[in-house]
Amino acid sequence: MASEVDYYAVLGVERTASADEIKRAYKKMAIKYHPDRNPGDKEAEEKFKQAAEAYDVLRDPDKRARYDQFGAAGLNGAGGFGGFGGGQGMSMDDIFSMFGDIFGGHGGFGGFGGFGGRSSQQRQYRGSDLRVKVKLSLQEIATGVTKKFKVRKDVTCPECHGTGCEGGHRPETCTTCHGSGYVMRTQRSMFGMVQTQAPCPTCHGEGTVIKDKCKKCNGDGVIAGEEIVEINIPAGVAEGMVVNVPGKGNAGKHAGVPGDIQVLVEEEAHPDFVRDENDLIHNLLLTVSQAALGDTVEVPTIDGKARVKIEPGTQPGKVLRLRGKGLPAVQGYGYGTGDIVINISVYIPENLSRDEKKAFEQMKDSDNLRPSSGIKETIFRKFRSYFE
Ligand SMILES: [Zn+2]
Ligand SMILES: [Zn+2]
Repeated sequence: MASEVDYYAVLGVERTASADEIKRAYKKMAIKYHPDRNPGDKEAEEKFKQAAEAYDVLRDPDKRARYDQFGAAGLNGAGGFGGFGGGQGMSMDDIFSMFGDIFGGHGGFGGFGGFGGRSSQQRQYRGSDLRVKVKLSLQEIATGVTKKFKVRKDVTCPECHGTGCEGGHRPETCTTCHGSGYVMRTQRSMFGMVQTQAPCPTCHGEGTVIKDKCKKCNGDGVIAGEEIVEINIPAGVAEGMVVNVPGKGNAGKHAGVPGDIQVLVEEEAHPDFVRDENDLIHNLLLTVSQAALGDTVEVPTIDGKARVKIEPGTQPGKVLRLRGKGLPAVQGYGYGTGDIVINISVYIPENLSRDEKKAFEQMKDSDNLRPSSGIKETIFRKFRSYFE
């Protein structure tokens, strides 16, 4: 793995820091390295981005836990999973749209002034994100799967190709801001009087205006439509996980950037298995004679069956493992695969025939059927270990 950034060190907090401490530390860094205070300073910009990246991971209990356990690799995992975590993919635009509230109330902070977009100044619309649910079987989770969805969403207007202009025209340069997208304003801020950029009130920061609006989309550049979207779900996902598919959400107005699709994973119950992280637990019910005499039995696996040997004198509660037959880790195959865990139970017949009853009665006083004190102890020790 390439040199890994320590997100805790970036924010200057302990690994045990509370959510509040992390937020405060981030706010301090963000103010210190804010581009408005450090115009043209590439190093400050880098630090500002690093702090935002660290904060994005550490503020989310789920991401933080995965980072603590696996490092940045736990966040990158299977392609596109869990957003940009750990990557270098955060733009200034992302930072302001995600953490704008952190800067709230301080003149000159927040908003989009000066970042992203077509030039360094203009604003570009971003389409909103969409959420879809997908229900997966254990087989699909074991291998990963490609799913097709018909998604209703805003699509680029086919008439004007997103420009929003009628008759093949292009948007015109805004005369208020001369195309820059912003106007200068003097404001009182936490640093005293500062000159700040504010979005142009005429063009709302776009730098251009549409004189003759496209009739099909009313100048928006997008219309309601639908699209068949193919989504790759990586192996090893679990109920409640979200797979992010960048760029497949609603189209952005005025030829802007599209949003994402977030796929919420739901898991179908399986008739034979209970899932415990990457292990699959199977309850194997033996007859009294199988447990006493031993046997070879078939147990289900994800894609078929396996045979396991039952030793004579097998106790209920005994656990057998089929190593590596469970689910792969969502972080990738390098992170290991779970087991099939066979929990043995013994079925005690609820109704006995006259002959069966006689047979049990004959055995009733046999010493071998009563556990010795040594056996009682052994069984109790195993029983206790389940609770430790
Ligand atoms: Zn149009
Ligand atoms: Zn303007």
